[in-house]
Amino acid sequence: MEHNAKIYVAGHRGMVGSALLRRLKRAGYHNLVTRTSQELDLRDQAAVEDFFALENPEYVLLAAAKVGGIVANNTYRADFLYDNLMIQNNIISQSQQHGVRKLLFLGSSCIYPKLAPQPIREEYLLTGPLEPTNEPYAIAKIAGLKLCEAYRSQYGCNFISAMPTNLYGPGDNYDLQNSHVLPALLRKFSEGVDRGLPRVQVWGTGTPRREFLHVDDLADACLHLLLHYNGAEPVNIGTGRDISIQELADLVAELTGYAGEILFDFSKPDGTPRKLLDVTKLRSLGWQHAIGLREGIMSVLQSAEWQQATRLP
Ligand code: GDP
Repeated sequence: MEHNAKIYVAGHRGMVGSALLRRLKRAGYHNLVTRTSQELDLRDQAAVEDFFALENPEYVLLAAAKVGGIVANNTYRADFLYDNLMIQNNIISQSQQHGVRKLLFLGSSCIYPKLAPQPIREEYLLTGPLEPTNEPYAIAKIAGLKLCEAYRSQYGCNFISAMPTNLYGPGDNYDLQNSHVLPALLRKFSEGVDRGLPRVQVWGTGTPRREFLHVDDLADACLHLLLHYNGAEPVNIGTGRDISIQELADLVAELTGYAGEILFDFSKPDGTPRKLLDVTKLRSLGWQHAIGLREGIMSVLQSAEWQQATRLP
């Protein structure tokens, strides 16, 4: 990939897209194309066609998606399915029609069966029922990676797919209803400290296990795949390590300095009991994560973005 290659980063305002932009710029890529969702509604087929005809990108990184945590996924089920299908169908089909040299599609670890053996290998895809709370999102993402595979087999397109585990880092969503667990806990425990709350509520039973990857590591892995991977099969991107929600709550309490009680709200869903990706394939491609969970959480808590977001009025 030449340094002046024209690269379209779809979803550049999101946590993943903005991390990809930072990583590409740092690596010396400067011919980067972006559009905000106000400028280009990616669900609009005609608008996406016009955009591709105008810009003709050589590479496409598809990080645009409607995303959210367990409650958001379960509440806005139609939007998660429809919006994501439209966004990815438009971008992937236009990439084929305009001869894009390589496309990277970003999926999610929730594409795998709810009760997949752990750690989850790429070939466990479509071997069992999905977790119901995020089935619409997962179905869209499965359709996206299958569309990439189909364009490769029918038209010879070099479209690859990456399946990241749970992500966190700069640009995360800290809305308590719609966010994922790690940003939610950072916010809840920080507020617990700031307001001197005697107890903080954590959803579910605390027993589910999750894996967490810093988004800067994800962006680094994506660049690695762009440069070194040309296969049809999706590649898992994770750390290979997981922790329970209880352990995560204890860690966030420690790092934020929260000393009060932690209560588990059993009325909220647990979701998949365990979600740990097998990263053998990624390792065999020569990539490994660099940012540990403790270090990654510390860097979020020390960031200007976080300090600004949580400043009390
Ligand atoms: P998931 O990985 O798709 O299940 O999505 P989440 O990151 O939203 O949730 C992961 C796990 O953390 C689930 O078992 C949640 O019940 C649990 N959890 C505990 N507290 C919270 C919270 O405040 N917000 C969210 N989103 N999840 C929480």
